[in-house]
Amino acid sequence: MGAEQVTERFTQLYGARPEGVWAAPGRVNLIGEHTDYNDGFVMPFALPHRAVAAVSRRTDGILRLHSGDIEGGRAEITELRLDTLAPQSDDDWTAYPAGVVWALREAGHEITGADVHLSSTVPTGAGLSSSAALEVVIALALDELYGLGLQRWKLARLCQRAENVYVGAPTGIMDQTASACCEQGHALFLDTRDLSQRQIPFDLAAEGLRLLVVDTQVKHAHSGGEYGKRRAGCEKGAALLGVDALRDVPYAGLDAALARLGDDEEVVRLVRHVVTENHRVERVVSLLRSGETRAIGPVLTEGHASLRDDFRISCPELDLVVDTALANGALGARMTGGGFGGSAIVLAESTETDTLTKAVEESFTASGFTVPRVFEAVPSTGATRLT
Ligand code: ADP
Ligand code: MG
Repeated sequence: MGAEQVTERFTQLYGARPEGVWAAPGRVNLIGEHTDYNDGFVMPFALPHRAVAAVSRRTDGILRLHSGDIEGGRAEITELRLDTLAPQSDDDWTAYPAGVVWALREAGHEITGADVHLSSTVPTGAGLSSSAALEVVIALALDELYGLGLQRWKLARLCQRAENVYVGAPTGIMDQTASACCEQGHALFLDTRDLSQRQIPFDLAAEGLRLLVVDTQVKHAHSGGEYGKRRAGCEKGAALLGVDALRDVPYAGLDAALARLGDDEEVVRLVRHVVTENHRVERVVSLLRSGETRAIGPVLTEGHASLRDDFRISCPELDLVVDTALANGALGARMTGGGFGGSAIVLAESTETDTLTKAVEESFTASGFTVPRVFEAVPSTGATRLT
């Protein structure tokens, strides 16, 4: 999706050229799953897929929204009055951008209106964070147009608030921070407790490697409730162990912590996943920093086993991607995102990816599943102004 197309469409819709065009990417999480609401570590990188928004200011308290991706671009413009914006009052896609405007105004920033047209290449509901891309592109556009001077991590926080409170979706801080803060050729090592971050060089092409995203295109229905259950179970574990968050359970003290949890098998499994997963993020960071990129493969695969067996959020389609990829020469593979569908990632030698993709497609056909969408994920730039 280019700036010119979005500019042209904006001009048709609103009768004047936009003041600017911004872009914000979707993301894939390399490692660190279900750690963000436990104050832990995550390591996403930005995709080349992105939401692009053309935006102009208004002074009359009106917000006009249009997405080129709804009903083939023929949908009407939605017009909202800023003084009527209220959490969970919109139940369609406009809740995401409206929520961002609401969150900015709630935080005391004077926004007097906007015209917005956007279009996105981030697949929706594939665990690649099309929602965060949408939020962050609006937040950055308004930040720049209204001269708010907000730091990227702050924009991410406001977007998270928009999603949690206005849309009503309980999500951690990873997605918005990734979209706002990632850098090309890097993965973002983020401490979700204090939002401190480090850019870790992650240039796969230079090493003869590729990372594939395999979007299974399935979304098992119970995913929402299961997320809530896992979250509550983690909180219970932290309370039983007397810590603020599971982040505070050191890897070296894991066995002792599990022994203290006794026979609460469910909580034991959740705690074990979170503590070992934080440790896996740290291992991946140190391997990448010492140039041992291939060695992260088995760590990714261990992460998958932990999500499947301990956190129990995988599904037959995701397991099939991982098993088939590993049986066909992948260095590592795991599900990524919330679970119960969505996408898996596969790390492989560049020379192996064609064979591997074919093997995954064939295994899906043989199992009677819809053939997944496979694409290469090149670590790309975070949110930025295009024109
Ligand atoms: P994910 O973030 O994993 O893609 P979510 O359910 O969190 O999945 O967010 C998807 C929702 O975001 C869509 O249902 C839609 O409401 C909104 N959305 C994403 N991209 C667009 C777009 N290009 N145009 C309009 N709405 C979008
Ligand atoms: Mg989302």
